[in-house]
Amino acid sequence: MLKNDQLEQWDRDNFFHPSTHLAEFARGNLPQRVITGGSGCHIEDREGNRLLDAFAGLYCVNVGYGRQEIAEAIADQARELAYYHAYVGHGTEASITLAKMVLDRAPDHMSKVYFGQSGSDANETNIKLVWYYNNIVGRPEKKKIISRWRGYHGSGLMTGSLTGLEAFQKKFDLPLDRVIHTDAPYYFRRETLDQTEEQFTAQCVASLEALIEQEGADTIAAFIGEPALGTGGLVPPPAGYWPAIQAVLDRHDILLIADEVVTGFGRLGTMFGSEHYGLKPDIITIAKGLTSAYAPLSGSIVSDKVWAVLEQGTDENGPIGHGWTYSAHPIGAAAGVANLKLIDDLNLVQNAGEMGAYLKRTLTEALGDHAHVGDIRGEGLLCAVEFVQDRDSRTFFDAGDKVGPTVAAKLLDEGVIGRAMPQGDIIGFAPPFCLTKDEADEVVGKLVKAVA
Ligand code: PLP
Repeated sequence: MLKNDQLEQWDRDNFFHPSTHLAEFARGNLPQRVITGGSGCHIEDREGNRLLDAFAGLYCVNVGYGRQEIAEAIADQARELAYYHAYVGHGTEASITLAKMVLDRAPDHMSKVYFGQSGSDANETNIKLVWYYNNIVGRPEKKKIISRWRGYHGSGLMTGSLTGLEAFQKKFDLPLDRVIHTDAPYYFRRETLDQTEEQFTAQCVASLEALIEQEGADTIAAFIGEPALGTGGLVPPPAGYWPAIQAVLDRHDILLIADEVVTGFGRLGTMFGSEHYGLKPDIITIAKGLTSAYAPLSGSIVSDKVWAVLEQGTDENGPIGHGWTYSAHPIGAAAGVANLKLIDDLNLVQNAGEMGAYLKRTLTEALGDHAHVGDIRGEGLLCAVEFVQDRDSRTFFDAGDKVGPTVAAKLLDEGVIGRAMPQGDIIGFAPPFCLTKDEADEVVGKLVKAVA
């Protein structure tokens, strides 16, 4: 462990942190926490605090911290061959094995996986593939992408545009052209309070139909969505949402990209969210849970239908002009192989489902009647509590009240990490899949104190 007394100062002087209020950080008004270790669901900092991480980093350390099997696989790979590229047909045992393991777990109609580094670059790849696809099939005008308000798809130029959260676009001149947004499938925030879930779903579907009508189906290439909304509020879809949306997209020949960066590899208690909600995507985005964040690696899984057109495209135009230096990085691939094996060996997908149900039930028992709790929702180990000023009229707090961040800060004082979601007063939980009942009870007990 580093024992450098100047570390905090060096941090302020040199380190440009992502998603951080830079001026407040420089003034020393934000907490600085130097993380030194982790094991299971816990992390430790330099001050010796041990925290229960109920958000698994950025909902990515799915198998938990300190897994020696993955560390060994990474070390072995680094010793044997730290790097070779994947261009023009090159591979490593790890990358080829991982591709097979991913496809073995993906829905049957999926064909191949393209590896990148992050969820953002995987979604950038997906949009390029969709445009390429429509150029090859002779529909050069069919290029717009529909995304949802409150969706999160990354921080790149295109993916930051697809993201439907103001904080990620403000002052960056986003969104770019070709991106259009439709309704967030967020039943709790419906405009008409007496609407049933089914009526709300019908409204989302009608609004999508109207958008397609207005823009012209022949200008729209794809629809991108997370099976359950993540960063936008941790919101499972309303009843019947996905089958109805899928039917609209099929009718208008619009490709579906399922962004499973959060839901892929077990978070909802099934291997993929697509399986959970019965989607048939043309492309699936994977990242976080692919390696449980032990090394950066992402992927775009393409369907048989997309693959056939990509092959045709290269016959007509030569090699596909898209690649990253670090595509299928051997160390990331080795981490991925060990990670997916561990998920199987420890039955972690099943545990995510069971512990998720337990966490939601205990949260509901503990806080379901609280005067300022408007909604407790979740699917698998993706749960949220949303706070309101008044339950009956569902009046939200003013943004300036900062209720979500305050609850998260109080919870942290108790030694538990939950995430104040960026838009609305929502505290989110997405712990590692190895969460135990005792740990779930600790999260809930300490949240009750924090809320009080
Ligand atoms: N897509 C979803 C659904 C995400 O939640 C995220 C990140 O949280 C991304 C894409 C972007 O992934 P990354 O941060 O690895 O670029």
